[in-house]
Amino acid sequence: MGNESSGGTKGQRGVESVPGMNDVLPKDVGRWRALEERFRAQCERYGFGEIRTPMCEYTELFARGIGEETDVVAKEMYTFEDRGGRSLTLRPEGTASAVRAYLEHRISNLGGVARWYYVGPMFRGERPAKGRYRQFHQVGAEVYGDGGPMVDAELVDLAYSFVTSLGISQAKVRVNSLGSGDTKRRYADALREYYKPLAEKLSPDSQRRIETNPLRILDSKAREDVALRAGAPKLMELLGDEDRRHFDRVCSALDALGTPYEVDATIIRGLDYYSRTIFEITDTSGTLGAQDALGGGGRYDGLIEQLGGKSTPAVGFALGVERLLIAAPESSLAAPAVKSCAVFAVDRDEPERVQSAALAIAKELRSAGIVVHIDTRFGKLDRQFQHAERVGASCAIVVGKQELDNGRVELRELDTRRQNAVPRDAIVAKVTEVLAKSGSAPG
Ligand code: AMP
Repeated sequence: MGNESSGGTKGQRGVESVPGMNDVLPKDVGRWRALEERFRAQCERYGFGEIRTPMCEYTELFARGIGEETDVVAKEMYTFEDRGGRSLTLRPEGTASAVRAYLEHRISNLGGVARWYYVGPMFRGERPAKGRYRQFHQVGAEVYGDGGPMVDAELVDLAYSFVTSLGISQAKVRVNSLGSGDTKRRYADALREYYKPLAEKLSPDSQRRIETNPLRILDSKAREDVALRAGAPKLMELLGDEDRRHFDRVCSALDALGTPYEVDATIIRGLDYYSRTIFEITDTSGTLGAQDALGGGGRYDGLIEQLGGKSTPAVGFALGVERLLIAAPESSLAAPAVKSCAVFAVDRDEPERVQSAALAIAKELRSAGIVVHIDTRFGKLDRQFQHAERVGASCAIVVGKQELDNGRVELRELDTRRQNAVPRDAIVAKVTEVLAKSGSAPG
């Protein structure tokens, strides 16, 4: 799975990882890096620049930005006081921080449109399960200063193309519109009217939300709330002309891009700040089980103003890295095989001199871009061979006192066991040649 490498044995002496916060061991890290690098490359191709924000912010940012009544803010945030008594929160998502940075650095003064992407850990105190963690990772993108429908479609397409580029073939895109201006308010009234007579059948949380934030009832996972959802009024029916036109143009642009999607009036998204276009991408293959949402996003035209900036349209999305890694076939993120060379030192008489020479030769090869393995314990020769085999080296340089005295070393090809003496100053050239012959160029 690539993300629960720590699983299994608990740490010794009572020191263990926090449940839902996982290590990624070197054997698994290649898939993570491949995914992250592919996302970066794709975003750069779409004209986005990377933003890195701190891991925590003042709690107020998330409370005001995401919404007090959302599950994320009400139940899942990792909040603590710093030494000065200020309330800080580990970021549960990336958008609020990006908006804060956009405001703090007065990016709007630069004019034009800002296109940012991010990659990094997020924290939510959820019950850990497959695909649901307390520290998880997201890749995401945000666009500030463009209120038109084309950028919405472009972002949906970016997210979907990225997902499919990972070999996730059964991804499904669903889009909806939450309208703008007072549409959400009118919809909230319509929902109140629908849910009030049914209040007793709702979960306690949702009973409270009838007054505070009835849209959140549609997002609830409680069984009793899900059961009443089908009869609820549909927001699409309340869309004003402008919102409807915006949404239609998003859909026709997606058609033109060949991005498959479905209009689904029941999706609402878990955070309060959305308006107009929203979308979700799920994996329908069953691999993810209950946690099948790969990501989603939408327009949040009111958030920048709500956080103290001047009214600026904005749109973004985030995808969950762990879920992408679970859903993506093993082969699609396989790291390319890297050919490598081992360096051995063998001599009992002058071990320091020979071992230092071996280190220097390893350094020289590495400077030339070659991957070099060296077992610096320098045990018996067969131990050093075993190490080379374990790490998959293609060849080995054997350094011994006598050879050093004669200005040469032995170069052994590990698969054919062919061995030749090589002059000291020809090592890099010879190793490069042998590695190229064994399948791929070094570096
Ligand atoms: P959200 O901002 O809640 O829509 O999350 C966007 C995506 O992030 C989800 O679709 C998941 O792929 C991922 N995600 C959200 N919460 C978690 C979590 N607790 N553990 C793992 N992935 C998550």
